[in-house]
Amino acid sequence: MWAGHLGAALALKRADRELDLGWLFLGAQLQDVILWVLVLAGVEHVTIPADYATRHYLHFDFPYSHSLPASVVLALLTAMVTLLVARRRADGRRRWRAAGLLAAAVFSHFVLDVIVHPAEPLPDGNSTIGMGLWDAMPLAIAIELALTFGGLALWRRGASRNGCGGIRGVIVLVVVVAALTVTGMTVAPAPSSVRAVAVTSLISALAASAIAASSIGRLGRG
Ligand SMILES: [Zn+2]
Repeated sequence: MWAGHLGAALALKRADRELDLGWLFLGAQLQDVILWVLVLAGVEHVTIPADYATRHYLHFDFPYSHSLPASVVLALLTAMVTLLVARRRADGRRRWRAAGLLAAAVFSHFVLDVIVHPAEPLPDGNSTIGMGLWDAMPLAIAIELALTFGGLALWRRGASRNGCGGIRGVIVLVVVVAALTVTGMTVAPAPSSVRAVAVTSLISALAASAIAASSIGRLGRG
């Protein structure tokens, strides 16, 4: 899932005019950013299954970036860092609101991933939590697109009410991400290597956040 995470961030942006959309995008993708860094470092593992061409999803061994305890700790850490960083820039109420929204963006990643990822077996005989919606791919795509464009519609209504510019830029970014996500879930061939997926996914997640945080994101405040 990629576009759906941005949809959650866009929906959360509606609750705070000041908070930069780029930070919310980064928060909603933080667990994937950590995953791909850990995969490149050889700490977490991703495999390309033999039946990728029919199933269109990878298998993950990602206890440090994606488990429930890791998600809770990451969300709390995000809130703490936000409170510290914003100490001099915002009053108490705005700081707490930003901290809560960024923590919610981080934790939303876990919730959405649980819906689509299959439960992965663990060495101790247990398995990760996962409802496996990717095994019903048309439904998974419909839900991800609903999330993405539902979030975009919510954000857009707030942005136009406040007379913001830059709306078109955010819409183009989200449409491109949604198109790439659906392509990956349907017709894209198996990736050439795990390293290639890790590098591409890491750059894509950071680029989407940076674009939203740039002039497009700033103009999109509202
Ligand atoms: Zn993820």
